[in-house]
Amino acid sequence: MARDMVNSKRRDTRLVHAGSHPEMHRGVMNPPVFRGSTVLFPTLDAMEKASAEPLEGVYYGRHGTPTSFALEEAVAELESADNAISVSSGLAAITVGLISFLGTGDHILIADTVYGPTRALCDRLLTRYGISVTYFDPLIGEAISNLFTPETKLVFTESPGSLTFEVQDIPAITEVAHEHGALVLLDNTWSGGLYFAPFDHGVDISIQAATKYIGGHADIMLGTLSMRDTHYQHVKSTAVRMGYCAAPDVCYLALRGLRTLPVRLARHEKNGLALAEWFAARPEIVQVLHPARPDCPGHEIWQRDFTGASGLFGIILRDGIAREQLADMLDGMSYFGMGYSWGGFESLMIPTSPGEYRTATKWTETGQALRVHAGQESLDDLIDDLERGFRRLNGT
Ligand SMILES: *Cc1c(COP(=O)(O)O)cnc(C)c1O
Repeated sequence: MARDMVNSKRRDTRLVHAGSHPEMHRGVMNPPVFRGSTVLFPTLDAMEKASAEPLEGVYYGRHGTPTSFALEEAVAELESADNAISVSSGLAAITVGLISFLGTGDHILIADTVYGPTRALCDRLLTRYGISVTYFDPLIGEAISNLFTPETKLVFTESPGSLTFEVQDIPAITEVAHEHGALVLLDNTWSGGLYFAPFDHGVDISIQAATKYIGGHADIMLGTLSMRDTHYQHVKSTAVRMGYCAAPDVCYLALRGLRTLPVRLARHEKNGLALAEWFAARPEIVQVLHPARPDCPGHEIWQRDFTGASGLFGIILRDGIAREQLADMLDGMSYFGMGYSWGGFESLMIPTSPGEYRTATKWTETGQALRVHAGQESLDDLIDDLERGFRRLNGT
């Protein structure tokens, strides 16, 4: 067998084979789970040589194992990056990405709709080290240029935004940022790395909570950073210095999940679009926040820059629904679970409070917002479940 299909121009084919090296494991197709801290060097020569380049190859458990290397190879393939780095969670990846490029006195620009814990990391931790933070309207586009100061080192984006799904003009933002000598980091979790190509749109570092769609089975915590060669050594040494690494069993599960990412995401997309359509026709709903729908802020940008939609979106209930009505609905759902995270096979629905997590923009909606994750169940069952849920909510 000539294993050169990894060079296929078609990404679905490359994703099936990327990072796969059966010839290194007696032909066994998947990589073994290399559990290891100690790596033995056969001679003093070999040890000294390895110590001179500790980020090359297998050196010490924290620096990576053949299992994490296989996953990183596949993630780099997924996002068309030169390199990827795996760490213990999505938030750890965000931390490494930020810390790699910041020091006391620096200023960063962050999208107002960023994932809540990213905001907490910046406001509660980075500011303690003399880093100043300015939040920007996710729909700002090239007008972001007005927010740069000589100290601005980095722009942190997340598109679409958490909870409210505004789509950002990443090419416009990266162009302005690069003119100011600043880097752009993107939290690319929503697209699974599959529906948005970060490096074609000027992004410098793409981050994913692999906990979500790459893992895909709600059973791991993992983060990844993808980048061009230029930044790899620097970011990798930051991760190693901070002591961040991903467990080999988790890397194995993520690689297994990644093999089926395109088929899973297609199903999440299909169910998500159908549910969004269904919600939009309900009298209890005043707005559906789904990037693929024309009334979602930034929809034209989604249409221009993305090649698909994942299964995560928002809805806003009409005014005047009491907490007990909401509880009657949510407590009795058969298939929509209530819990944090998303990207697994199951459907989820949780109340959210977008107003609590923004400072640069105002959240003026008065109805209760909910975040919906469309899982892989049969659409008919999901809709039946929701119909029964709205009956409980309405007391009918
Ligand atoms: C979940 C999530 C994260 C954090 O990932 P963890 O693995 O839970 O640390 C970061 N960004 C986004 C957009 C997320 O949804």
